Amino acid sequence: MTRLVVVGSINMDLVTLAQRFPGPGETLLGERFLSVHGGKGGNQAVAAARLGAEVHMVGAVGDDDFAQPLWDALAAEGVDITHVARIKDCGSGTASITVADGENQIIVVPGANARVTPAHVANANSLIAGADAVLVQMEIPLETVEATLRIAHQEHVPVILNPAPAQRLPETWLKLARYITPNQHELAILLGADPAEDFRSLMRRAPCPVVLTRGAEGAWYREEGEPQHQSGFRVEAVDSTGAGDTFNAALAVFLHEGLPIAVRKACAAAALSVTRLGARGGMPHQADIDVLLT
Ligand code: ADP
Repeated sequence: MTRLVVVGSINMDLVTLAQRFPGPGETLLGERFLSVHGGKGGNQAVAAARLGAEVHMVGAVGDDDFAQPLWDALAAEGVDITHVARIKDCGSGTASITVADGENQIIVVPGANARVTPAHVANANSLIAGADAVLVQMEIPLETVEATLRIAHQEHVPVILNPAPAQRLPETWLKLARYITPNQHELAILLGADPAEDFRSLMRRAPCPVVLTRGAEGAWYREEGEPQHQSGFRVEAVDSTGAGDTFNAALAVFLHEGLPIAVRKACAAAALSVTRLGARGGMPHQADIDVLLT
């Protein structure tokens, strides 16, 4: 069984569906409200657990009403939450999302996610040392991302850095990652390059191996030499939220089978995830991927 450590964010997504967006000072009647569990870290942990991995989450929730449901949802998926801290006098991370006219407006309040420290990662050092891979994203403080990269590198455990939301990072950090998994836009920002530059040339310039996602077109990957393409799987897309998270989780789970196979399985898992509503709603189980691949 693949053993993974996921270091990242845990959010409650508060989604309001409306006919249109309200103007400043305006009150509108909406059509529907739902709260769903999210955060890139939590999503990737759940996706990996569904694919059969033993998953340990390093993160934090607050001490508000959202904390227990967020915690319970991870535990219910079989994710080990021993290293999910409860931060006193702090809210859990939230994303307030309004959807109207096929567009969305989002305000993220990091809350407890901003309080995931290098010390939390250091406390999980022995877990990291015994893991097959580590997954980290950028919805937690950058110093904590750096600590994760350094500890994993020191323990000779491959770390997959999903650089979202994108920010420029020092080259020395990128060199510590076994793979970075940006989309084209994120890769350009990460490297401080022009987003209009051809993605293959961006991939060649990156100081570490890259697995680049391209929506329905699938993914490109490069360790050395020329970038290679893995086509996307044809599916009826309903909601692409969580596709990237499912992709990253599957890549980590199947990495031990070699990069080309892991990327193919990641594309299959992510394609299945877009066929259902919600970030976690469509995340597949191992058997679902086997069906798509046969
Ligand atoms: P992000 O939202 O992070 O930019 P992408 O949209 O590139 O991520 O999606 C991640 C992966 O999900 C893609 O590489 C692809 O494998 C899969 N995917 C996304 N959208 C579709 C789609 N419409 N059909 C099939 N696969 C998809």
